[in-house]
Amino acid sequence: MILLSCSAAAFFFSAFDRQIETVYGDNTRDAIFEIKKTFLQHTVQNQIARIDAARQRHAGLAIARLEEKSALLETFPSGNREEFIAFFRECFRDGTVWTAALWDPAAGAVLHDPKGLLRKGFPGTPDGGEFRDFSAWKIVDFRGLRAFFGISRAAADEAVKKEIASEIHASRFPFDSYIWVNEVVNFDGGLNYAIRRVHPNLRDTEGAFLSTETRDVKGNRPYLTELEGVKKDGRIFFTYFFKRKDSEEISEKLTYAELYRDYNWIVAMGIHLDDIFASIGEANEESGTTSGRLIVLFLLLMVALLGISDLILLFLEGKVHGESRKGLEDELNRDPLTGAFSRRAGETEMARAFHSFTKGALPPAIVLFDIDRFKEVNDTFGHDAGDAVLKEVVKTVLRNVRTTDRLFRWGGDEFLLVAEGLKAENALPVAENIVKRVSEHAVSVGGHSIPVTISVGIAFFRDGDRGYEDALKRADRALYRSKSGGRNQANMEE
Ligand code: GH3
Ligand code: MG
Repeated sequence: MILLSCSAAAFFFSAFDRQIETVYGDNTRDAIFEIKKTFLQHTVQNQIARIDAARQRHAGLAIARLEEKSALLETFPSGNREEFIAFFRECFRDGTVWTAALWDPAAGAVLHDPKGLLRKGFPGTPDGGEFRDFSAWKIVDFRGLRAFFGISRAAADEAVKKEIASEIHASRFPFDSYIWVNEVVNFDGGLNYAIRRVHPNLRDTEGAFLSTETRDVKGNRPYLTELEGVKKDGRIFFTYFFKRKDSEEISEKLTYAELYRDYNWIVAMGIHLDDIFASIGEANEESGTTSGRLIVLFLLLMVALLGISDLILLFLEGKVHGESRKGLEDELNRDPLTGAFSRRAGETEMARAFHSFTKGALPPAIVLFDIDRFKEVNDTFGHDAGDAVLKEVVKTVLRNVRTTDRLFRWGGDEFLLVAEGLKAENALPVAENIVKRVSEHAVSVGGHSIPVTISVGIAFFRDGDRGYEDALKRADRALYRSKSGGRNQANMEE
C-alpha cells in the first residue's frame, strides 16, 4: 500500500516536475525582475532623500557660520573705523561662500559692497525679493555702522552638489550598477538640453552637454524617453542599450530615473538586463534543486504519513482487538450470574499462587464456603430466588473482604475466596465475620425474606504439598466440619 502510493506520487511528480519548474522559473523571473526594479527605485529615492538631508544640514551650517562671524565682529575693539572696515572685508573675503555689505546709514555712505547689492536698492524690506536668494542672512549694527552678510542659496547648493557628487562617486552597488545625475537646462529638450553632472562610469564626461537626439545602438532615444517620462510623472522606468562598466560591451540596461526639481537634476540608476537574467538562471537552477528536494521531502513525508496512519490503524485495531479480547477473557474468567471469577480463573490463580509459594512467597488464605441448605431455597422459593440468593451472597462477601481478595465461584453454591496476605491467625476471625455478615443479611425475593447462612473451611499451602489441590482438600475437610458442626460457621484446617 505504501509502495503503491509512493510510486503513484513519484510518477505524478516526475510527470509534472517540468511544468512545475517552468511555472517556478517564470515566477522567479518575474519576482527577480520586480526585486531589481524595487532595488533601483529605492536606491535612487534614497539618494534623493540624502540630497534633501544634505541641504538641511548645510542650511543649519550656514546659520551657525553667520553666528560665528557675528561673534567675531563683536570681538573687534572699538576705535579706528578704517581698521574695522578692513577687518569686515577680511572676514567675508571668500566670495564663493559669502555675500556681505557694510554701510553708514546716517551718512548714506557705502563702505564695502563687492557684489553691488546696495546699488540694486538692497536690502529694502527683509522679506522682499533679494532675500529669497539667500540660504541664511543677517543684518547687524556695529558702532553706528550697518552690516549685511549671508550665504546665497546658490553657494549653499553648490556645496551640497559637490558633497553629493563625491558621495555618488564613492558609492558601490551590487551588479556593477551606479547612480548618475544629469542636470536639465532646457525641459523642451534639444541639443544641449542637459549637462552630465555625475557619472561614476564616465567621469571625464562630467560637465558635458547632452542631447535628446542621441540614439543608442538600437536607435532608441533614451534621453528623450527619460526627459518625457520625468516631465510627465516625475519618474520613469525604461530600457536602452549602453556599454557595460569597465568594458566596451554593449547590453540592454533597465533604468529608473527620477527628477529632483529644486536642482533640475535627473537622478538615475540602471542595471544590465543580462545580469538580471544571469541571476534568474541561477535562481532557476536553485529552484530546480529546491523542487527536487521538495519532491524527495514530499515523498518522505508521504511514506511517513502512510507509516503513521498504518501505526494508528494497528494501534486502533490492537486497542479494539485488545478490548474485545479483554471482554472475551472477562467472559471466560467471570461467572455470568454472580460476577465472581470463574472456577477456571480460580484454578489458574491457585496454580500461580502455589508456584509463588514454592518460590518462597507467603501463602494466601484459602477460604472455601458453601451455602447452607441451598437446595431448600430452590425448592421452596424457586430457582430464580436461588439465583438471587447466590448473587446477594457474593455481594455481601465482597463487601466484607479487601479489594485485593479474589472470589471464585467454585461450583453450584460453593465459592473460593483467595486472600493474599491474610495470616493464619487472622484468617478465622475474618471468615467468621463473613459468616456473620451473610447470616445477618436475609435476601428479599418476591416479597419473601430468605434467611441465608454459609459454612466455611480455611486452609493454607504447606511445605510438602504437591499442588494447590492438597490445600483445597484440607479446606474442603474443614468446610465439611463446619457443615457437620451445625453450619453457619467457619473452621480452620487441622
Ligand atoms: P448443604 O449446604 O448442607 O450442602 O445443603 P445444600 O442444599 O446446599 O446441598 P448442595 O450444596 O449439595 O446443593 C447445591 C444446590 O445448589 C444444587 C443445585 O440445585 C443448586 N444450584 C447449583 N447451581 C445453581 C444455580 O446456578 N442457581 C440455583 N438457583 N441453584 C443452583
Ligand atoms: Mg450447599
